[in-house]
Amino acid sequence: MNSNFLEIPIVQKGVLAISINIEKQKEHVLIGELDEIKLFLNGFSSAQIISEVKRPIGTFIADCCNPIPNIISNIRSAFSREVNTQNKDFFEQAKNQLFELYQSNNLCFQFYALHIWQEYNKRQTKTKKLFMKSNGINSMPNFMDYIEDLTLPSRISMESEIIQAQKFYDVTPLDAFDSILFQGMATYFYTLSNGFSEYVVADFTVMPVLIFYLNTIYNNHQYLQRCKVCNRLFLAHTANIATLCSDECRRVQSRLNKRKYDNVKKDISYEKNYKNNYMYWYNKLEKLKKMRTVNYQPFEEAFQSFCKEARVKKKNVKDGSLSVSSYDDWILSQRNNADEIMSQILRGQSQKKKSNLGQSF
Ligand SMILES: [Zn+2]
Repeated sequence: MNSNFLEIPIVQKGVLAISINIEKQKEHVLIGELDEIKLFLNGFSSAQIISEVKRPIGTFIADCCNPIPNIISNIRSAFSREVNTQNKDFFEQAKNQLFELYQSNNLCFQFYALHIWQEYNKRQTKTKKLFMKSNGINSMPNFMDYIEDLTLPSRISMESEIIQAQKFYDVTPLDAFDSILFQGMATYFYTLSNGFSEYVVADFTVMPVLIFYLNTIYNNHQYLQRCKVCNRLFLAHTANIATLCSDECRRVQSRLNKRKYDNVKKDISYEKNYKNNYMYWYNKLEKLKKMRTVNYQPFEEAFQSFCKEARVKKKNVKDGSLSVSSYDDWILSQRNNADEIMSQILRGQSQKKKSNLGQSF
């Protein structure tokens, strides 16, 4: 990675501005200097902004819910100290990691990186250095706290905070939020660039913007959910009934349901077939037993080996190594086998009777 680290622009006052379009179910997010963003929205092509995306509603909430990469702890510790008091390699590594964070597709993380870099450079100014020197301060005061406040939504588990609140307060889930989340301020501005639009602006922590966003979607009866098929966070119209995020995921789910249903049906059909045939053998055996003088032993042995073999074959059907139709064919052949053995026994019995009769004459 480039160790010259020239890629993050140094801004005076970087902001993140969001417009939420309920009707079109879209969000418009911009990062940059506030004046440049306003110029951009008013059609000035020379305006310099850092990021601009239009994407499905709720995506920024999902960005805030994603856990921040572990590199943030290195960044925090390296940037909280005076450069000349620490290992240079460690600081260079942390600068590269800050660039990694800046390059993320997650706009929340990009905004954090921009702000840390902005604040770091502000604290490197000669005036600040002189101030610190004259006051006997060797480390940069409160930069650690600054980074922690900045990254608040990503440091707490915002997703579970939201999902928990939605469980019990499905009309106004914000009632269930901890009051610490309502500290901080956001500002607004309006444009007529694409019809009347309202933009809410974060110039430091994004938490007030996130709260504004959640309030807007709750007023429209939309709630954050994680799709159980693709595991994506999205907005659903119910808080507590699991919903899928798209037609694509609904198709995947219905294919899964059908497969499950077919498997259950398969289980039922081969078990039922086995039970019917077990009773077929059992009833025949009982009939032979009632005939007292008949030697039913060969039938009983064949019945036992049918049960033994059927157990193996059922296992094979279950693991897919034997098809249901081959299994059904085998069951049928066993039924014929039972008939055959039974008639052999009865034939033997009637011959015995005949020969006994012959002897008596
Ligand atoms: Zn999905």
